[in-house]
Amino acid sequence: MSRLPKRCVFSHDACANQFLFMLSGGEIFFFLRAATVSETRVSLNFRTLPKAEVHIHLEGCFDTATIVHLAAENNVPLPRPEAELLTFEGLSDFLNFLDFICGLCRTRDQLAKAAYAFCERLRDAGTGYADVIVNPTHWHSWRDNLGGMIDGLDAGFAAAEQDGLPPVGLCVSLLRQQSAQQAIEVVEELGRLRHPRIVALSVDGNEAAAGRTGQKFADAFRLAGKIGLKRTAHAGESSGPDGVRDAIFLLEADRIDHGVRAIEDAELMTILVDRQIALGVCPSSNLILGLYPDLEAHPLDRLRQAGVLVSVNTDDPALLATDLPQEFAGCATAYGWDRETCRAVAATSINASFANADIKARLLRDLSAW
Ligand SMILES: [Zn+2]
Repeated sequence: MSRLPKRCVFSHDACANQFLFMLSGGEIFFFLRAATVSETRVSLNFRTLPKAEVHIHLEGCFDTATIVHLAAENNVPLPRPEAELLTFEGLSDFLNFLDFICGLCRTRDQLAKAAYAFCERLRDAGTGYADVIVNPTHWHSWRDNLGGMIDGLDAGFAAAEQDGLPPVGLCVSLLRQQSAQQAIEVVEELGRLRHPRIVALSVDGNEAAAGRTGQKFADAFRLAGKIGLKRTAHAGESSGPDGVRDAIFLLEADRIDHGVRAIEDAELMTILVDRQIALGVCPSSNLILGLYPDLEAHPLDRLRQAGVLVSVNTDDPALLATDLPQEFAGCATAYGWDRETCRAVAATSINASFANADIKARLLRDLSAW
């Protein structure tokens, strides 16, 4: 798969006569050319930018070394040579691979290690908190044991937090192909568990293939609200604006995963602004999957300028070969974001997250000092 903003990008912000040169590793250097005297250089380091991530899948965070380790531990052959492990031939290959890697987590300890490694990934990106999406349908060993699966993941997240790694909330996701009854059963189980690690119900999967599913999942999402869960939904990526409308009006979503195709519907954008419903946008993911040819064509900044709450996220960072500083650097370069704009987008990510008030206050305090 191509690696979107790894290449060097050169762009120009006319009003400040400043040139942005993007380097790998998520840093941008601004060269401000004063008319008369020497250059001033200001460095923006997105690794130190206090931020949250609200659209990231645990299934998309296994790196090659972890996959090789787990496969050996379980005595399972790799589906292809190690060097080509994260090279995919289309969407179905990609989805099959998700099932393969999640199927390698067969014990409580293996789940805990995957959760711990996720928090290390957050630390490395300078991410202070994440709502992580987990879709139980991928984790075959835990198919009839959601409680055991949550327990194993929670053990890893708790150990990580004890070691000073960033805190995490869990968004348990339905698969779009599941039935209404299966969805209700998942939420009823979440109601029985009432696990403090679980912050939200989510739904993901290919909307283009499954068609409109808002009506089908409306009861499950209503029930989730009743048991005190937040609600998110993938929409406005493989679906158009209708998918976003369904997420708002049928699923009562507190936040939309992707949502970028709302740009095609002015009235819908007004609804998003009025209701302050944030979008968890994943620029590289959208480009790699061919939704837009490049960041200039991507609507992220037009949505932001129209007043829609947008955050920057990675979706499946290990599989898409990206990280959050790199996503911020790509956007800042393409859109000419200055320090204040970057800070505002990071603030949206923190405010739109389902972190508790203490975590949000701490991150926002750190952000004001960045
Ligand atoms: Zn996603």
